[in-house]
Amino acid sequence: MKKFLTFIMTFSLILYGCTSSPNSPHSEVKGVSEFKNKDFSYYPILGESSNLSESAKDSMDKWRKDIVDLANENKDLIFINGPKTSKDVAITFDDGPDNMVTPKVLDILKNKGVKASFFFIGENIDKYPEVVLRTFEEGNLVLNHSNTHKDLSKISKEEFCEEVDITDNKIKNLIGKAPNIIRPPYGAIDKLDEYKERDLKVALWSIDTLDWSKRDKDNIFNNVKDNIRPGDIILMHTTKDTNATAEALPLIIDYLKENDFNIVTLDKLLDIPPYSYSHY
Ligand SMILES: [Zn+2]
Repeated sequence: MKKFLTFIMTFSLILYGCTSSPNSPHSEVKGVSEFKNKDFSYYPILGESSNLSESAKDSMDKWRKDIVDLANENKDLIFINGPKTSKDVAITFDDGPDNMVTPKVLDILKNKGVKASFFFIGENIDKYPEVVLRTFEEGNLVLNHSNTHKDLSKISKEEFCEEVDITDNKIKNLIGKAPNIIRPPYGAIDKLDEYKERDLKVALWSIDTLDWSKRDKDNIFNNVKDNIRPGDIILMHTTKDTNATAEALPLIIDYLKENDFNIVTLDKLLDIPPYSYSHY
């Protein structure tokens, strides 16, 4: 009986530990004192494409300025870049998985011994679950990019729940845990309380390779080479249309390594837990 009780107590402690520990450190961003420093401010977001119209460029520039202002006011919730004091940087990919470019990118990462962070769309997770599993099993992060790529700032609270929670559940069903890090489509952020309630952290980017605008290997590479700063978060995409991204990736990795940058996943760059075992 005593043995049984000890077993139950130990089991409860393990359970309790699983449910409480991944979430509890979130309210304070542990370790990264730089973000807590009142004088710390995020980088301006960089990256160019000659394919953008004047009006598209104007609205992108306005979004970049506004989102950095919002992030500076909410440093424990919205991240544009990591600490500026070490040469860690993160490579991130949005909009996958697909069955062409995502596997190609995974091959390159594996071959170069680099891990990256992937923001997957729920609908694509349904189509290519084996690619999600491979991404995770090879040490990359599998994170949330909504279920149907809606602008989360323009939908109701109920729709927000569906977009975010359904995707978390799809990921959890595959890899056994739900992400703690989200990237809203288009970087469109509103409803900060909805993120706070879920204890989610929003990771955006400080370098946009513009691979969604100018699908050109050299432009993608140059946006990194000409702009890279310590702590940068680099935005790229893995969809069937982004073959040029896969072509640019080896050049980017080699350039970063040659210049003594460490390529790390977002949880390491930002010092936040990547997953929770207990969201739902
Ligand atoms: Zn996207």
